[in-house]
Amino acid sequence: MTLFTDFGLAQPILKALTAEGYEKPTPIQAQTIPYAMEGHDVCGIAQTGTGKTAAFALPILHRLNANPKPRRAKSPRVLVLSPTRELASQIADSFRAYGRNLRLTTEVVFGGVTISRQEKALANGVDVLVATPGRLIDLIDRRALSLREIEILVLDEADQMLDLGFIHALKRIVTLLPKERQSLFFSATMPKTISTLADSFLRNPANVAVTPVATTAERVEQSVIFVQTGRKQVLLETLLRDPSIERVLVFTRTKHGADKVVRGLDKAGIAGAAIHGNKSQPQRERALAGFRDGSCRVLVATDIAARGIDVEGVSHVINYDLPNVPESYVHRIGRTARAGATGLAISFCNDEEKAYLKDIEKLTRLKVPVMPLPEGLPAAPAGGETSERREPQRGRPAPHARGHQGHGQSRSADPNAERGPKRRRGRGKPGGNAQPQGGQPAGNQQRPAQGQRPAQGQRPAQGKPASGRQDGRRGDGAQVAWLEKSPRRR
Ligand code: AMP
Repeated sequence: MTLFTDFGLAQPILKALTAEGYEKPTPIQAQTIPYAMEGHDVCGIAQTGTGKTAAFALPILHRLNANPKPRRAKSPRVLVLSPTRELASQIADSFRAYGRNLRLTTEVVFGGVTISRQEKALANGVDVLVATPGRLIDLIDRRALSLREIEILVLDEADQMLDLGFIHALKRIVTLLPKERQSLFFSATMPKTISTLADSFLRNPANVAVTPVATTAERVEQSVIFVQTGRKQVLLETLLRDPSIERVLVFTRTKHGADKVVRGLDKAGIAGAAIHGNKSQPQRERALAGFRDGSCRVLVATDIAARGIDVEGVSHVINYDLPNVPESYVHRIGRTARAGATGLAISFCNDEEKAYLKDIEKLTRLKVPVMPLPEGLPAAPAGGETSERREPQRGRPAPHARGHQGHGQSRSADPNAERGPKRRRGRGKPGGNAQPQGGQPAGNQQRPAQGQRPAQGQRPAQGKPASGRQDGRRGDGAQVAWLEKSPRRR
């Protein structure tokens, strides 16, 4: 077994790891750190949640510390590129945490906030700069930053970088970097486009990889509830009355949808906050802080906004809408069950989304057990949508129409949709063409859970039925005790 002490990391770093409570390296750390410590380039396939931040941050801090240099204005020694602001902030926090006993400084820059404070920070000189590509280029163009002194480059979540359209910014950035440097490149997936990008950054890299995305799904206890669009909100409110839901991330596909869910929760007396691309940076930070400190137990997010969010103790993930990109489902449910914790993911699925569920089951090679609607769930509110047939979700091709749309990409059709990964079908991922297990079509709303849970009428009344009205507005008495985590399956 590899230990942190095996790597030869400086004592102050080991001390910080003890303070973080890390006992042993994760697999990506065990693979990456020895190469990175020696100054090799590394090409890593790993997603958020595997401990990849420490995999690059620890050797970087060690190398900077071993070769101290005076800080130079506007000229950092390390550049870490991240696709999103949230991930960038978290990476910077990690550098500060692991480097707390070292005399090194870390700064983070991203768009959506005033640039002058960032210019000032860079003018004072920083050792490690974490940046999103757009703001980085702005700072370079304003002559507030030079990349000439960069010794180590990290490109994190390369697949997201491309999906978010940062390719031109990256190509320009690479031309501004010194040729003599160490580069560490990470991506959750490695299709041809990403490996071509990697080639342009890396020299003779060591290749490392951990658990492919599809298999992470196995660690999370999952279920799906078939429900009409018009009853999703009331279903969510019913579930959220269960106190075993300690901290829940609710995913919607659109920014507008996220706001609508939060407004509904507010009306029902349930505190929730939304996080998405239309929120200002202070709003996002407030929402995340409340979610972290437990003052707000429900965070409603779009895929892009949630990427990189690393909050411990997320007990549940609820997919209010199923994503049309199966990989997004795996990323979403990976927000729970972090670092070996148990977690539960519940997906709401209307008729239109059944095709997405099939794609997800194909990718993960798992049949998602079906959970019945809670007993006594109120009907759709008057005036609400009563049939998903009448109001198909905007921007999504109906399953029967997708064949005519080639790869079914619907991003441009929906102005509300958060920019996100393209729908990619049949692109040769491991398991991508496998048949779902179980072989049953996932279609019957009344079908009991398959083997995982007792049927509706036989369920033991563990916990409390959610009849206690916390809000004084809707006493539906729906039974939700089955939300409690069942013993781990493996
Ligand atoms: P990351 O994949 O870098 O986003 O890390 C996911 C989570 O794992 C973060 O909360 C880290 O603090 C945590 N973590 C990273 N390395 C370790 C480790 N060796 N032992 C325990 N937790 C870790």
